[in-house]
Amino acid sequence: MFRTLENMDFEGKKVIVRIDMDVPLDEDGGVKDDFRLQKAIPTLKYLKEKGAKQIIIIGHIGRPKGEVVEALRTTGVGKKLSELLGEEVLKFDDCIELDTLETHKFVLLENLRFHSGEKENSEDFAKKLANIGDIFVLDAFAVSHRDHASITGIQKYLPSCAGIQLKKEIEALNITDAQTPIIAILGAAKVKDKIALIEELLKKVDKILLCGGIIFTFFKAKGLEIGNSLLDEQSIETAKKYLGNEKIVLPEDVVVAHEISEGVENKTVSIDQIPEEFIGLDVGEKTVANFKEILSTAKTIIWNGPMGKFETKPFGKATKEIAEFIITLGAVSIVGGGDTTSAIRSFGLENKFTHVSTGGGASLELLEGKTLPGIKALEENMEKFT
Ligand code: ADP
Ligand code: MG
Repeated sequence: MFRTLENMDFEGKKVIVRIDMDVPLDEDGGVKDDFRLQKAIPTLKYLKEKGAKQIIIIGHIGRPKGEVVEALRTTGVGKKLSELLGEEVLKFDDCIELDTLETHKFVLLENLRFHSGEKENSEDFAKKLANIGDIFVLDAFAVSHRDHASITGIQKYLPSCAGIQLKKEIEALNITDAQTPIIAILGAAKVKDKIALIEELLKKVDKILLCGGIIFTFFKAKGLEIGNSLLDEQSIETAKKYLGNEKIVLPEDVVVAHEISEGVENKTVSIDQIPEEFIGLDVGEKTVANFKEILSTAKTIIWNGPMGKFETKPFGKATKEIAEFIITLGAVSIVGGGDTTSAIRSFGLENKFTHVSTGGGASLELLEGKTLPGIKALEENMEKFT
């Protein structure tokens, strides 16, 4: 249990809000993709409506490693937020050395990671941040699995709660009480990294449709030839363990090519016919048809990992077809994972799914059943500041 916005009184308070602002910037420092910033707006507007005296926005961009990197200033984020809020956001050039903040309703502080105290979660840095405001709101889901000063440290000193986006993410990605049948699509790149996820999903879902780069390690485990396809040698034994599991569905056919390049010649083969020197880069049509049939029985669909090398045309075909199919179903549809989210967004379908997560690592850790440090801190905070 943790507090949300409705549980706090913001009237006349200075509210520090940690948002996700780790967005791609262009050469002039402008925001190239504002997906994450859009998701921060509801909380910011809510705080203004509820009479907050001032809303102090904090966050990080990239990996500046504790020093000032000109290209990673939050100036462009400030401009974009002003646009999205329809009101000027005043930007400061530091996050703790500040002159008077009293001038604007919304202020934005400089990249937190210009100070090494942020990632080191130093007490001194966390205290200085906390000193700026009266209440802390955590709304940065994508970094809520980090034990950093602006995520956990600051919560030792201020009454804190979750913002709208964070709450949404936590609720959507908790499939424990989801309507069954629950079907998972798992298309990751490395088996080793996804084993914890497979284990956890097996406890909660009715079927796991495997696809993406991991399937070739499973094919190898079955004794099949996989040509030059992606292989995680060390995971072959682990893959064997899952081969007989009736919840796990493997593809029947794959799209193969000589090399990974745009528009390269390709063909679809049965999984026991992968030619030497070829690379498996997508699942084939029979597999797509079979997956569609299984998915049509689902009440809840949870998707992590693209089905093929979608960044290189034409190997995004299955991913796109399945995405377009899922949105026609009446099922609850949840997408988690950095690359999966970018794939769905590249098709322009992000608003057609029930939930498309803003988090990569954080969404995976949550799906794996781990407790995120930011959430744990919110729970402890509720005990401490009653
Ligand atoms: P996410 O970021 O959504 O958690 P992963 O990072 O685990 O997902 O895996 C996604 C990556 O896997 C993508 O870059 C995608 O291109 C790649 N991929 C998918 N299918 C294949 C394949 N057959 N061979 C190699 N890479 C693949
Ligand atoms: Mg990834």
